[in-house]
Amino acid sequence: MVELQNVSVTYSSGVDALNNVSLKINDGDFAFVVGSSGAGKSTMIKLLLKEIDATSGVVTVNGYNLSKLKRRKIPEFRRTLGFVFQDFRLIPSMTVYENIAFVLRVIDAPKKFIRKRVPYVISLVGLQAKSNSYPDELSGGEKQRVAIARALVNDPQLIIADEPTGNIDPELSYEIVELLKGINDQGTTILMVTHEHDLVRHFGGRIINITEGEIVFDEIITGISEEVIAEEYTEPEPVIVQEEIPDSQSIADEVIAAIREGSAGGDTDEA
Ligand code: ADP
Repeated sequence: MVELQNVSVTYSSGVDALNNVSLKINDGDFAFVVGSSGAGKSTMIKLLLKEIDATSGVVTVNGYNLSKLKRRKIPEFRRTLGFVFQDFRLIPSMTVYENIAFVLRVIDAPKKFIRKRVPYVISLVGLQAKSNSYPDELSGGEKQRVAIARALVNDPQLIIADEPTGNIDPELSYEIVELLKGINDQGTTILMVTHEHDLVRHFGGRIINITEGEIVFDEIITGISEEVIAEEYTEPEPVIVQEEIPDSQSIADEVIAAIREGSAGGDTDEA
């Protein structure tokens, strides 16, 4: 569950990135968040992960009031979330199995559980045959499947997918959304940020459009609604395939930090 009540974010530079945004995504929902570059989508995601705090208003995610959440509770909160990144963030030196298993290892899950759970989520994303492959032996679509399995392994209530199809072939994008839809059918709430309007048009469902820090559209669309899309949305930005991969240790550090430590800046609520 995600709820924003009159939330505003003003960066120290003076930029108003979100302006009095109210929004509720119930348990079990699937919502697309769309909007052009600079609209405030990343700011919203950072809020939901408690990487930043709202300047005003209340943010509630999975029952946690993030405006009041103590810093030491952030890891516990983050374990209720799964996160899928545009650039996959797999650890190149680890196999598919290991990339997923290590998420459970850092939270000290029992070995027996890991041995059952990891093959299970790998089968959910249809990658049984690639279990022992390394990321550079996988296609973009397969890498994103691994990332989705990793997001799922901890059985989160909510998965936030930030442009999950941004670095993969357009035809495979549909499969990734199908997969997320299938996961949603099992009860996991999904919030997917995208600027791929063809996908949104194709799948329909709840569409939240952020423009200049405000929600200008929040409705459930069935089927294709060309007029709304044409009016509200700008052309997709070109896909940039990221060739530079950070070294594996820094990725591991980042993922572990996201799961365990948190990187929340600026909250002094423990003081
Ligand atoms: P989107 O993800 O939709 O592209 P962002 O949330 O990144 O949009 O940005 C919303 C606005 O906030 C933009 O004007 C952007 O320049 C500004 N912004 C984003 N991050 C920061 C930051 N750390 N400091 C100052 N301004 C920022």
